Amino acid sequence: MKVHNFSAGPCILPPEVLKQASDAVLNFDNLDLSLIEISHRSKNFVAVMDKAVSLVKELLNVPEGYSVLFLQGGASLEFIMVAYNLMKNEGGSAAYTETGTWAKNAIKEAKRVGEVNVVGSSKDANFNFIPKGYTIPSDIDYFHCTSNNTIVGTQMKSFPEPDCLMVCDMSSDIFSRTIDVSKFDLIYAGAQKNMGPAGATLVIVKDEILGKSGRDIPAYLDYSTHISKDSMFNTPPVFAVYVSMLTMEWMKSKGGVSWIENRNEQKADLIYSEIDSNPLFKGTAVKEDRSNMNVCFLLNDENLSEEFDSMWKAAGISGINGHRSVGGYRASMYNALPLESVKVLTDVMAELAKKHA
Ligand SMILES: *Cc1c(COP(=O)(O)O)cnc(C)c1O
Repeated sequence: MKVHNFSAGPCILPPEVLKQASDAVLNFDNLDLSLIEISHRSKNFVAVMDKAVSLVKELLNVPEGYSVLFLQGGASLEFIMVAYNLMKNEGGSAAYTETGTWAKNAIKEAKRVGEVNVVGSSKDANFNFIPKGYTIPSDIDYFHCTSNNTIVGTQMKSFPEPDCLMVCDMSSDIFSRTIDVSKFDLIYAGAQKNMGPAGATLVIVKDEILGKSGRDIPAYLDYSTHISKDSMFNTPPVFAVYVSMLTMEWMKSKGGVSWIENRNEQKADLIYSEIDSNPLFKGTAVKEDRSNMNVCFLLNDENLSEEFDSMWKAAGISGINGHRSVGGYRASMYNALPLESVKVLTDVMAELAKKHA
């Protein structure tokens, strides 16, 4: 049976990418060696890293003056790296929005390094909206926001333009929509939600912002170290970088980020209109802030959950249980999820409503 994979992460990847990746694990570049048993300094792998970097630049239209890095440690390590690299050693401070679990974790780490102002928070509303209209002080080192809140299903539809450095955690919506990279000074994203398997973290950083903290940063945590070594300061996560490269080639072949954005909007329209018109369900996020990536919803009558669960499982749907911290349902619709899979889910929702009309 065809499985419709709505996993929140690690997430669905295109079948052609998985096929190419498995071929390369057995025989990479006709070397009769596996991708994961050759030197990362070999010209074959260096070409993979170069290609991955140039595809990021091409797909996201990265301007001159930015470096593209593939690091390890996930987005979670970026929480501390950002603060180490950008907060001044003496009297450092930053402003953060608090829009969900990941933002909270980012704030917690930054507080180890300097002063953190939380300038906008939706905590009191279970993070069901994106705060707006807050003031970002200009005498701080940077502003940090989370573009898409993976667990609660909210997404920033526009970004503030602060008078300080602009940093964004785009882990769960990178490559899902067009963005103007020139408006950001640092963007980071764990690979496993739209780009590839777990193990690589994408960082796009404006070179001129580095080296100004006055802090003696441990080599591994210093972006400059990784820039000077082209992401090969130590052994890079070769498999994760390779599969990310393949996924980006797939995105390019489909028509790039604008094609993907368009299809993601179609998927979101389909499921949100079902949620809004179906009397059995309700969405949890405020409408204007709804995420196109992670769609969170509830059954109005919990007593129907057993029946609904058995119906979607029978239809081949996988991974729509809500995050353990919030319950309900969450349909994650990352780039590789076909529109057809969303249709299967909305059909099941409509069928349940018909049975209970
Ligand atoms: C998943 C996620 C993270 C954590 O990513 P790791 O790579 O597991 O550290 C951080 N931020 C957001 C928005 C996420 O969705």
